[in-house]
This record gives sequence, structure tokens and C-alpha cells, in this order.
Amino acid sequence: MSHKVATLDFEKFHNTIAGKPRDSPKVHNGVNPSDKTKLWDVPIATEHDLDDAVKSAQEAFKTWSKTTWKERQDILLQIREELLSHRDEMAQLILKECGKPIQFAQGEIDATAGILQYNSTAPPPGEQTIQDDNDLKVSLRYVPLGVVGAICPWNFPLILSTQKIVPGLLTGNTIIVKPSPFTPYSALKFAEIAQKYLPPGVLQALNGDDRLGPMMTEHPGIEKISFTGSIATGKRVMMSAAKTMKRVTLELGGNSACIVCPDVDVQKVAPLVALGAFFNSGQFCVASKRLYVHTDIYKEFQEAILNVVKSWKVGPAGEPGMMLGPVQNEMQYNIVKGFFEDCAVNGYQFALGGEIGDAGGFSVQPAIIDNPPHSSRIVAEEPFGPIVPMMPWTTEEELLTRVNDTRTGLGGAVYCADQERAVNIAKQIEGGTIWINSFERPLPNAFFSGHKESGIGGESGEQGLLAYMNAQAIHLYKGDVGKTKL
Ligand code: NAD
Repeated sequence: MSHKVATLDFEKFHNTIAGKPRDSPKVHNGVNPSDKTKLWDVPIATEHDLDDAVKSAQEAFKTWSKTTWKERQDILLQIREELLSHRDEMAQLILKECGKPIQFAQGEIDATAGILQYNSTAPPPGEQTIQDDNDLKVSLRYVPLGVVGAICPWNFPLILSTQKIVPGLLTGNTIIVKPSPFTPYSALKFAEIAQKYLPPGVLQALNGDDRLGPMMTEHPGIEKISFTGSIATGKRVMMSAAKTMKRVTLELGGNSACIVCPDVDVQKVAPLVALGAFFNSGQFCVASKRLYVHTDIYKEFQEAILNVVKSWKVGPAGEPGMMLGPVQNEMQYNIVKGFFEDCAVNGYQFALGGEIGDAGGFSVQPAIIDNPPHSSRIVAEEPFGPIVPMMPWTTEEELLTRVNDTRTGLGGAVYCADQERAVNIAKQIEGGTIWINSFERPLPNAFFSGHKESGIGGESGEQGLLAYMNAQAIHLYKGDVGKTKL
């Protein structure tokens, strides 16, 4: 393994191609959502850069795919240690690029370390014997795909890129990662950090403009696209990938329901539901985006959740004691603003908030809409911001009809003291992951996937590893085909 110790500068950002930093004649800048100031220059990769990266990844694949599972796991552990040794600088970086208060920026690094930890101990998907008798042995094994393109969103730039990079590398693939142009910095820096432990071309990172994603999905040298982002873009990715029959994993948007049953202690559960709905200012794919609270406790619960959210500090991420930072970018800010306006124009009741506020940057004061109609935008669509509708329910039957009346199927949450009833409700939610008596927290060992238009395939856990592998069945007929011995 080659070791290229480079000094890390958290004020300078490059693409990484063939183990080396690569700049570009064109640059752009992220914007700090807490105060709208311009962040550092970041190169915009060209088509030529992508071609170079694909060539280097194909070359690196020849040897990387032959390394053992254990060798790759040892490298992942080293990368984990290296990342944690830069925890403070990386947390400051995430605070600035995403607008995350420091405790959540640190949480993003710790969750990434958790992904590396899980993958550095996970067993390989083993060879299976399907049939073995006097005539025939049929075995099934798993082989890496080749060059993988990872296309990422802006809400958790480090977690959501490493959620692709780490299992992709462990399974013997080489990876080219493209962060969102809104948040390129932490993913580019992670790739730079990892270079010290990886041969050139195994992990490369390219920031680009709007053309880079489509160039990757079209590129004949890339075998798979793992994409996390919106449903609309996911559909474009799938159409484009079809031309070269690339494998795709699509982790897309959701509109998850959170169900609160009448037997819960309202004071215990309201803080959990508040976190599920507003964590990261609602910019979380599996956030609780529709709250359904049983009619018997509706008023009491509403009061309790209002008290929780009102106690939070909302505003620029760097200020002490902050709980909700700003929305990450202007485009998303305007989308969220559109939901506030739609609720106001239609006369829906704001149980909490109503004004987007002027706390600084793209900050948005959290809002809860009291019982808007089922067909309203705030119930039917994903705002991806700190505004959430709350509706009462009476019977499970009518509740589940409303909960499942959506083309999305990402997550869901159920709060119920009676765990048997909770599981029974959970099983009837059409979604990839359901949390019971907890706010939504994906784990690296549990498969995470979207049903319906929320995705194809998934990530994490053993199935997540298999998503980076082709199956190969070997049929060995045992009849003697040798030359007859004289
Ligand atoms: P987006 O779809 O706008 O962008 C995602 C990425 O795709 C970016 O890197 C972007 O540059 C790239 N891209 C844009 N057009 C492309 C194209 N035609 N071909 C290839 N790549 C292209 O999504 P976003 O706004 O960055 O993220 C927010 C969305 O992501 C929300 O809907 C959220 O629910 C979803 N999300 C889902 C998950 C999940 O795991 N299911 C996790 C986080 C976010």
C-alpha cells in the first residue's frame, strides 16, 4: 500500500484523481447558510477529469478487487482513526458548510466513524453451496462490480457519501464520489484524508456543476450508480443508467408518518416526536413529516410538543446553545417558504409559528400546522424543512388508509406503550424502515431502503454490501471428462 502523507489544510479544497489533488480552471463556492457568506473555492470537474478518474478507477480495480476482505477492513479502521484525529476541524467544516450546530456536526462525524466501524468488522457475504451430490456441485459467490459512481445530496454530506464509499470499498470496488455542489467540502476532505491509506484510483472525489451527475450516469466505464437525492432526480438517474444497464441503488425522498397512540405518556413521547420531526431543521429523509396523534390525547400532546419546540434556540449554527440551524441553501429556503405561504393562503391554523423569521442566514422558525386537510400540500408533499402538520386519528383502519395514501414509502414511526399493538401497526405501514418508540435513527447494521417511489434497493447491513456485488453461480458437473487413461 502506498502512503502519501499530505498536510491537511481545511481552507483548501481539491478534487482527488488518481491519488493526487486536481484543480480546475473553473471554481465555484458554497455559501454558509448561517450568514450567507461565500465559502472556499472548489474546483468544477470537467469531462476530461471524469474520464481520467474512470480510467484510474478501472486500473486500480484490477488489484484492489484482489485484496482480501481483511486487508480492506484493516484499511477502513485506519481511515476511521485518521478521521477521528481530525474531528474538531471536520466538525467546524460541517458547521459552516451545512449550518449544523456543533453537537450535530460532531454527531455527523461520529456516525461516519460508526459506519467505518461496522464495515471493518462485518463478515463477508459468504460463498453458498446450493446443491452438492454425486453428480453436481452448485455454488454461489459474490464478486465486486467494478467502478462505482456515488452521487450525494446536501443534507448529510459526510454520512451519506461514506454510507456509499465504505461498503463499496469493502466489497472490492473502486469509487468515484460526487458530493452535492451545495456541500462539496466535507466529502472532498474525507477523500483526501483517505488517500493516505488507499492506492491511487481506489477512492476519487469530484465536485462538479449540474453536468457532472448526468456525465457519470452516462459513462460507459462506470458499472453502478448509488444515488441519494430527490425522487425527481432519481427517476432521471434510472433512465440514464438504463442505457448502459448500470446497476442502481436509489435512496430518495419520503413523507414519513409518525403515529402516536392514546396509551403513551405524553411528557415522555412529545420530546421524541419533536426531535423526529425537526432534527436538522427537518432536512432529514426519514424525518417524521406527518404527525398523527390519537384524538383522546391530541390537545394535551400538542401543548407538550409546543413546549418542547418553543424551548429550542433557532438561528445561526455557530451561536452557543443552538438546536435548529438554518436551512442549508437558498433553493431549499424558498421551497420551505412556499409551504408557509401555502398554509397561510389556505387559512390553515399554525399551532406553532407562522412567520419564517429573520434569525439570520437561511434560518426558519419551526412551525406546526393544526389539522390541515389530507389533500393539502403540507400533508401530501415533502417540505424538507421545519414545518410539519399534526392531525388527529380515531381508528387504526382510517388512520392507516391516510398514512399509506402516498406514492412514497421511506420510513415511519409508532409510539405506543402496548408493544404488540405497536408492531402490528408498524407492519401495516408501507415503508422501508419503521421505528417504534424512538425517533428516526438509521443504523449501519440495518438495511435502509425505500418502498414505492422512495427508492430502489438500499444501503447498510449485509444487503447493503450485496448491493455492491454481482452474484455468480458456478455449476460443477462431476462426471469424468478427462482423457481415458491407457
Ligand atoms: P437532488 O436530487 O437535487 O440532488 C442529489 C444529487 O444529484 C446532487 O449531487 C446533484 O448534483 C445530483 N444531480 C442533480 N441532477 C442530476 C442528474 N440529472 N443526474 C445525476 N445526478 C444529478 O437532491 P437534494 O436536493 O440534494 O437532496 C434532497 C432530497 O434527497 C430530499 O428529497 C430527501 O428526502 C432526499 N434524501 C433521501 C435520502 C435517503 O436515504 N432516502 C437521504 C437524504 C436525502
